[in-house]
Amino acid sequence: MPETVRDTVILGSGCAGLTAAIYAARSNLKPLVLEGHEPGGQLSITTLVENFPGWPEGIQGPELIENMRKQASRFGAEFRLGHLVKADLSKHPFELDLGSEKIRTRTLIIASGASARWLGLPSEQALIGHGVSSCATCDGFFFSGKDIAVVGGGDSAMEEALFLTRFCTRVTLLHRRDQFRASRIMLDRAMAHPKIEFLTNVTIEEVLGVDEKEVKGVRLRDNVTGEESTLPISGLFLGIGHEPNAKMFAGQLDLDEDGYIRTHDYVFTRVPGVYACGDVQDRRYRQAITAAGSGCMAALEVEKYLEEHGR
Ligand code: NAP
Repeated sequence: MPETVRDTVILGSGCAGLTAAIYAARSNLKPLVLEGHEPGGQLSITTLVENFPGWPEGIQGPELIENMRKQASRFGAEFRLGHLVKADLSKHPFELDLGSEKIRTRTLIIASGASARWLGLPSEQALIGHGVSSCATCDGFFFSGKDIAVVGGGDSAMEEALFLTRFCTRVTLLHRRDQFRASRIMLDRAMAHPKIEFLTNVTIEEVLGVDEKEVKGVRLRDNVTGEESTLPISGLFLGIGHEPNAKMFAGQLDLDEDGYIRTHDYVFTRVPGVYACGDVQDRRYRQAITAAGSGCMAALEVEKYLEEHGR
């Protein structure tokens, strides 16, 4: 068992985790940030971020994250590559097992985010940031006057498709079945929109444009007839859902039906001293700025908790 007990450990190094780290470090709590599976979180795979206040010309996602990281380091935050294997929140201090070492901490900020679901095609992965995106709010603007496609049959896909009609000439909604999970109202709205076309019972076999480093189209297979076709597009948006990175807390914290950590009063979990912020507990807004805001709240609550417990 390790000798030292940390005041706070932050799981995740996206917008929420890094903002929590800046606040906790400035409070002299010497936070340890475990960077997780995707250091920098979703922003690190985004291109230009134009809606983060304070950057009138926009800023590249990786640069924004790097700046936050430097800011946290400047005040004494410590960073460690690696991720949590197991946590025991029934003991206090909490015990975190990183595989190679164990850490004890008085408080824990869970900012492990949510990962966009991808189709998993090599061509799709190669073109992320070059026409393939999982965030219409972030990247829609870059497709002004272009034809694009959205994949999925749930509310996320409908919402993305409707949002993208503001910029794009034509939005083709690609779905693998002809039944939809989307709510009736969202589906009706999308179906009634003159710029949205539906192509159902199709599977994307390949995203075209890897050599040119920009999306040129998609190769589709009809799931009923087996026929192949090509749809020329300039952008492909994934709307097939997100997976919150909270599985390791099942049984110890309350998770909702889709696996997001349930919080009350913004960032409180059911275990005193454990806070959750950012996309791991927010299925509604999922924006960099809202994640940053809740990271700040979590760090302020940590400070208050430690103070109330005599630190
Ligand atoms: P979802 O309801 O789980 O829908 C995911 C969709 O993606 C499904 O149609 C699914 O197809 C498809 N899909 C999943 N994996 C796929 C793959 N590998 N290849 C092709 N298609 C795939 O997820 P969501 O749309 O993100 O919604 C999640 C929750 O958030 C829902 O409760 C939703 O109501 C809510 N939400 C609400 C709003 C709103 O009200 N404004 C907006 C967004 C989300 P199948 O149907 O064939 O499985």
